[in-house]
Amino acid sequence: MLSEARIFYFYSTYFCNFVIIIKIEMKYFIYIFISLLLLSCGTKQSKHEIIVTSEPVALILQEITGSEVDNIIPSGASPHTFSPKPSDVLKATKADILFYVSKNMDGWAEKFDTKNKVELIRIIPENMLLHKDKFGDEHHHGEEEEVHDDFFNYEEIDPHFWTDPLVVKSLLPILVQKLAEVHPENAKIYKENAGKFSDELDEMDAEFTEKLESIKFKSIFLAHPSFLYLINRYGLTYGGSIEWNPGVENSPNYLADLIKKITDSGVRSIFTEPQLSQKSAEVLAEQTGTKVAILDPIGNKNGLNTYSKLMKYNVKSLKDALE
Ligand SMILES: [Zn+2]
Repeated sequence: MLSEARIFYFYSTYFCNFVIIIKIEMKYFIYIFISLLLLSCGTKQSKHEIIVTSEPVALILQEITGSEVDNIIPSGASPHTFSPKPSDVLKATKADILFYVSKNMDGWAEKFDTKNKVELIRIIPENMLLHKDKFGDEHHHGEEEEVHDDFFNYEEIDPHFWTDPLVVKSLLPILVQKLAEVHPENAKIYKENAGKFSDELDEMDAEFTEKLESIKFKSIFLAHPSFLYLINRYGLTYGGSIEWNPGVENSPNYLADLIKKITDSGVRSIFTEPQLSQKSAEVLAEQTGTKVAILDPIGNKNGLNTYSKLMKYNVKSLKDALE
């Protein structure tokens, strides 16, 4: 009968994992059930299991995990100039795994005390890495802080790997492996999702090859060298960058040289990025009679919330501005 004292085995998998054995009269059961629900909401475990320090990495990992990945950096900020707050450090300490790009981009993440840390630039296959010297700007060396260790020269390697879909593709097997090490129960789904994403990256590559053909010889002037992987992959023409390192000012000689390059190239647009100061690009555009167009290496603004949307936006922006 309902009014009799009974034993209930209550197992909640939805809110958190615990088993409660209650010996209670049925008429109180409903009150206790509601109380438990409220309690479990209050002590709900933090979902900050996989964290990243840049949006494009979040977009890539989300394709594999099938769910949202926590990004330390607020939307609209640049990983180059961001500086973490104590609450970010705490969040990172609680996470299972942290993915950051490179010591010379979001290197501030190195001090986080996360159990598992993955520096992506170190796990990309060697033959997929882009050496900065390939695109000149050599005269700019020396103004950069020299960052390297015995095994890897950070000064030589461009960290913005994600602007080449095929580099992203080359990274997928090892990303699946790293994620499966911390969440082995999801290994199968990670692998399946990565397979689908890999096919999508091949499709993007074919589409970009075709679409970018018509602007191959138009010089691309960037806000900072964030799209060299894309330029390299599709045989495009790099004109120069307004800033080699975001936040580090250029010499007047460098700018005079850049103005000449823009004018000589005959392009009608130069590019800026939503996460960086627009002022330098506006001044340069005025001095060279060009327009300012947008390339977004980061995303998560204006609906650019998947890797595919982000990259397609940029390819369209390049075409619209230069064709
Ligand atoms: Zn950058």
